[in-house]
Amino acid sequence: MHSEDQTLHSADHAETTKPPRRRIVIKLGTSVLTAGSPRLDLPRMVDIARQCAALMRDGCEVLVCSSGAIAAGRERLGFPAPSSSIAHKQMLAAVGQSRLMRVWDNLFEIYSVRVGQVLLTRADVESRDRFLNARDTLLMLLREGILPIINENDAVATEEIKVGDNDNLSALVATLCGADLLILLTDIEGLYTSNPHRDPEARFIPEVREIDEAIKQMAGGSVGGLGTGGMATKIQAAEIAQRMGTEVVIAAGRYPDVIRRVVAGESIGTRFLARSSPLEQRKRWLLAGPRPQVALLVDAGAAEALRTQGRSLLASGVVGVEGEFRRGDMVQIRCAEQAAFARGIVRYDSTTARQIAGLRSEEIAERLGYSWGPLVHRNDLILV
Ligand code: GLU
Repeated sequence: MHSEDQTLHSADHAETTKPPRRRIVIKLGTSVLTAGSPRLDLPRMVDIARQCAALMRDGCEVLVCSSGAIAAGRERLGFPAPSSSIAHKQMLAAVGQSRLMRVWDNLFEIYSVRVGQVLLTRADVESRDRFLNARDTLLMLLREGILPIINENDAVATEEIKVGDNDNLSALVATLCGADLLILLTDIEGLYTSNPHRDPEARFIPEVREIDEAIKQMAGGSVGGLGTGGMATKIQAAEIAQRMGTEVVIAAGRYPDVIRRVVAGESIGTRFLARSSPLEQRKRWLLAGPRPQVALLVDAGAAEALRTQGRSLLASGVVGVEGEFRRGDMVQIRCAEQAAFARGIVRYDSTTARQIAGLRSEEIAERLGYSWGPLVHRNDLILV
């Protein structure tokens, strides 16, 4: 590991005194939760809860992306006749999502794991300030030892703001929180060279280094029974996650102890190797793009804390604000009359930044009535 990466790495985990944890996103397809039946399969779900709890006890941070809302809604309403109406599907999702969460909450309680529901849409991940909000929520849940259970906000999301399938949603979640590993649990073992149900020559692929056209061809456009995605959306998800430095494994949810075995690195399912760490990728991402034209001017003490101690930029160290920007924009960080030495994602817009410049952290909430923490969080900051 380069020394620069180490700085970033320790900065990321400096909030906890414990060693860095493995952050794992587990995506559960409808077919896994129902074990192929039309109903939620409680024995299957309790087994998944048990495995997640065991991972958390081992010091991992776990996030679950759970499908099954629409299936649960159908079950709860006594299997109404299928309808192509969107409002009907949204109704199923509204009824099913609360049932789904009630079941998860009960099952996780057996293992003393507290859960929190987070419903997202594409808009929450793509707009810069909502991105920060969604990420803050997930990280706060993790920090408190609470397991986030995430689904798409199917009851209200319109087509334009929908991710559409939970494979892609789980990859966005992995990106959002810088996960080390994304596990896509489904009803088949992983990726085959062709459809194993139709082609007796189909060969299993245990490991993928690069997702190229050939891999995409193999995934085809297969679509399973109750769920939305097929192998094609799993490959899309793997591509997004891999690009951000997250390792991805597609595996069969019915295998005994599948989650723990994947995490232990056993050869089970198809593993898409990550090319670099999430932090390294994040650093590249922060550096990509044009140099920002707006800046925060800081005093010598703040510059020192940022440069040598990997700290966040607090309002108290800010002596000036140059230009107009919005929450979530990229800003330069420099001392007056000097070249920029860092850049980062700012957590307040320029008007607010001017109001709080020079204030101590506890004074921010007094002045504004709320606080989004430091002006630039160390995880969003890169020395240049
Ligand atoms: N969000 C949908 C549900 O909970 C599932 C989407 C998917 O399976 O990809 O029913």
